[in-house]
Amino acid sequence: MKQLAILGSTGSIGVSTLQIVEAFPEKFQITALTAGGNIDLLLDQIRRFHPKMVAVVAEQDADRLSSILGSDGPEILHGVDGLVCCAKHPQVSTVVAAIVGAAGLVPTMAAIEAGKDVALANKETLVTAGSLVMDAVDRYQVKLLPVDSEHSAIFQSLEGHQTQDIRRLILTASGGPFRDWPLARMGSMTPADALAHPNWDMGRKISIDSATMMNKGLEVIEARWLFDLPVDRIAVHVHPESIVHSMVEYQDGAVLAQLGIPDMQTPIAYALSWPDRLPLNLKPLDLCETGTLNFSEPDLQKFPCLALAYQASEAGGSAPAVMNAANEVAVEAFLSGQLAFLKIPQLIEKVLENHRSEKLTTIDQVLCADLQGRDSARELINGGLA
Ligand code: NAD
Ligand code: MG
Repeated sequence: MKQLAILGSTGSIGVSTLQIVEAFPEKFQITALTAGGNIDLLLDQIRRFHPKMVAVVAEQDADRLSSILGSDGPEILHGVDGLVCCAKHPQVSTVVAAIVGAAGLVPTMAAIEAGKDVALANKETLVTAGSLVMDAVDRYQVKLLPVDSEHSAIFQSLEGHQTQDIRRLILTASGGPFRDWPLARMGSMTPADALAHPNWDMGRKISIDSATMMNKGLEVIEARWLFDLPVDRIAVHVHPESIVHSMVEYQDGAVLAQLGIPDMQTPIAYALSWPDRLPLNLKPLDLCETGTLNFSEPDLQKFPCLALAYQASEAGGSAPAVMNAANEVAVEAFLSGQLAFLKIPQLIEKVLENHRSEKLTTIDQVLCADLQGRDSARELINGGLA
């Protein structure tokens, strides 16, 4: 029986993870849950899964939960310290890192330092602090299992193979809802247009990241750290059907891929049960019904965020953390109607232009770079870039 902590249980990945836990009660038990919002859903999850510890971001949400659940309920904490306590709970063996954004970094790092295996959905943890996180994974001898579907596909295509035999990784990208829109039309996109992803049902931030293709940029950096390869050996192919989840090309020309219907249950379940596979009740992939699979080069004119992510990764040091922070601010500003869609990459590019990359050797330095990126992006928005 695996004891789990789910960080971000009320989000898209958190809810899908709980569906798997519910389907396999003999394999998984929930010890801790955390959420940033959606307290009614959290309350429902507490009643269904009986965690021992719960953490929320705001103190008033913690007070509300305590008064509803009373003394029979779980221990209820709040703030970053509360999230960290859940991540380090002594009975937990695996932490599912499913918070969105750089807010996931500190609790995920705490889980690693407490010796927990991590099922990682929160790609921003590796984007902002990849080298520190991978060092800690080594030092504390924990397993970092990818939940992101592309990275799960690469992880599966690497099993039984040697890293020195890899020529390159090929990440697939759906291309998002604007793949086929002309650039001229993209200027007038609304949040509702951008949130309507063709293949995946996801949280708001990652949906916008998919529409700008920053999501793929973040995933290139995530892959760089997970699989220890320079970004010039990580390619992106646009693949609108989202059936081939990613590929590994070996030196002898062999290309190994993992295929499946686009459903996050598969990569989540594999990260939870590796090396075993769980008998999931999903619609089987029918390639005859699919008929044709398409692949093309990404259009970097239309999706400059992807190029910015390669540049930030090559600059190294604090640049990816600053880029990520600027992107988080830009996405929020777009969602609240303060920033036009095509200004998202412009804002990130300006923030990166104004930043001189520095080496990061502590998590505090990463958090500082994150704050700098946010401040710089907000200043530009207030100064009229919008
Ligand atoms: P979401 O917005 O649906 O859920 C995020 C969760 O984090 C929620 O429980 C929310 O309450 C919590 N949260 C938000 N801000 C917080 C904060 N400041 N402190 C603590 N908790 C906070 O997001 P999601 O789509 O589930 O994505 C989660 C992560 O997984 C992201 O990093 C995303 O890139 C990655 N991911 C998601 C998918 C997907 O299909 N949704 C696929 C691959 C990777
Ligand atoms: Mg992905």
